[in-house]
Amino acid sequence: MIYIDMDGTLCDFRKAIKQWFDIDLPHGKPLNKVSEKAEIEISDNITFWELLEKTEWCDALLKEIKEPFAIITKPYSYNATIGKLKWLYDNRVNNHRYIRGIIFCDMFTKKAGLINPLEFDLLIDDNKTEIDDWKLDGMAFQVEKELNITAFKKFMENYRS
Ligand SMILES: [Mg+2]
Repeated sequence: MIYIDMDGTLCDFRKAIKQWFDIDLPHGKPLNKVSEKAEIEISDNITFWELLEKTEWCDALLKEIKEPFAIITKPYSYNATIGKLKWLYDNRVNNHRYIRGIIFCDMFTKKAGLINPLEFDLLIDDNKTEIDDWKLDGMAFQVEKELNITAFKKFMENYRS
């Protein structure tokens, strides 16, 4: 199974933070470490999550997925989960041929072992901590500041073989 993160991987979370709060969020840094106020403001706001732009590479990344996958994302709040579900619908991710579901799960629950990756379970995520944690059992691809789609294609070819 493949697990794909939303914020920073499919959705341009940092761009939205810049637009809403004029905050330059460093890549891979959690928002609450930079501004707790902004974190509180977005966490219960359906619109924020619903209107996130796709990352530049979102479509290209999803096009390379040719096996069953689930979206894995932090829940934040009831309203955020609604916004995220709307985002997946509005951006037609829910129509992807291989999507099997959405998992709302924060880092703590992963660490707590609610998801125990098997050897060939693949995580695609922009968060280094998540990636390192996942790699203890499974496989992982880290989306850097920009996704190098050629490198990703190559990675997926190796993953399949
Ligand atoms: Mg992320």
